[in-house]
Amino acid sequence: MAQTALITGGAGFIGSHLAELLIERGWHCVVLDDLSTGRRSNLAALDGNPRFRFVNGVVEDRVITSALVKDADAVFHLAAVVGVKKVMENTVGTINRNLDATRTLLDACAVFGKRTVIASTSEVYGENPQATFVEDAASIIGNSKHRRWCYAAAKLLDEFYAYAHFHADGLPVTIVRLFNTVGPRQVGRYGMVVPNFIAAAKEGRPLIVHGDGSQSRCFTAVREVARAIADLSEKPQTAGNTYNIGNNQEITIADLAKLVIKLTGSPSPIIYRSYAEIFGENFVDLQHRRPDSTALREALGYAPQTPLTAVLEELINN
Ligand code: UDP
Repeated sequence: MAQTALITGGAGFIGSHLAELLIERGWHCVVLDDLSTGRRSNLAALDGNPRFRFVNGVVEDRVITSALVKDADAVFHLAAVVGVKKVMENTVGTINRNLDATRTLLDACAVFGKRTVIASTSEVYGENPQATFVEDAASIIGNSKHRRWCYAAAKLLDEFYAYAHFHADGLPVTIVRLFNTVGPRQVGRYGMVVPNFIAAAKEGRPLIVHGDGSQSRCFTAVREVARAIADLSEKPQTAGNTYNIGNNQEITIADLAKLVIKLTGSPSPIIYRSYAEIFGENFVDLQHRRPDSTALREALGYAPQTPLTAVLEELINN
């Protein structure tokens, strides 16, 4: 019999790609999303499919969540307040939602003993100075006066809670730490650099680089991220473990801006602005963020590797 997946945050950027992939693989898919940042239109390709159902609701609602978890074979928790800009603007909401939703969901998953995947973030490595982040590295979260860190701290507590249920109740939960993910349906509204740069270049507006642009990131194609999440869920031996999902091709933000200008042929200038101008005082950025993919490779036999240029070209041409 076909399996049923519950995807919280399934109307979001990554969740909607995961929903499409699972449907393609023959799953039934229920998406629970309150459309606070996700969009119903992200799921347009699935509307009318008899194996797809959309539920407009919040994960914190125990009654709804518990009923949906009970009927699912696997649960993917992607609902969260995301984006550095949004975190800075709505810190109270970020902490409340990221903690309450995950706790409610994990409690329900534990009651029914469901296969669970929790989406966490590379932010949890914090200011760890290692060049590449290995899953068992220490989290070095910055000072609590710096609002940015509330996201990492909340997500880290979510991870602790998942492991607590793993140990206390044998919950078969896998944690995935997502690195910078890019692709169709990502919006620039919450600060993400790639959609912002592409929109600016296409419209002839300046590309705003924060700081001196020497900070670097590794960008992973969203379909590869969705595939890795789906594949991990199908490997029961990954329960009780954490996996980085990201590729390891690093690019500085200054070079990213130049690459977008080159690929679009845009006349847009590149402008450098201090972090203080963009986010106010007390903002800390991360200089490097690169995943070690050994654990993922060992679990799945592959790691994401689509070149950034291919993703950028797809975004630019659509
Ligand atoms: N950034 C930038 N210009 C923008 C948006 C972001 O220079 O218009 C920078 C941001 O400060 C960070 C990097 O690009 O250093 C990646 O930002 P994003 O929000 O995409 O992801 P993060 O890695 O911060 O979670």
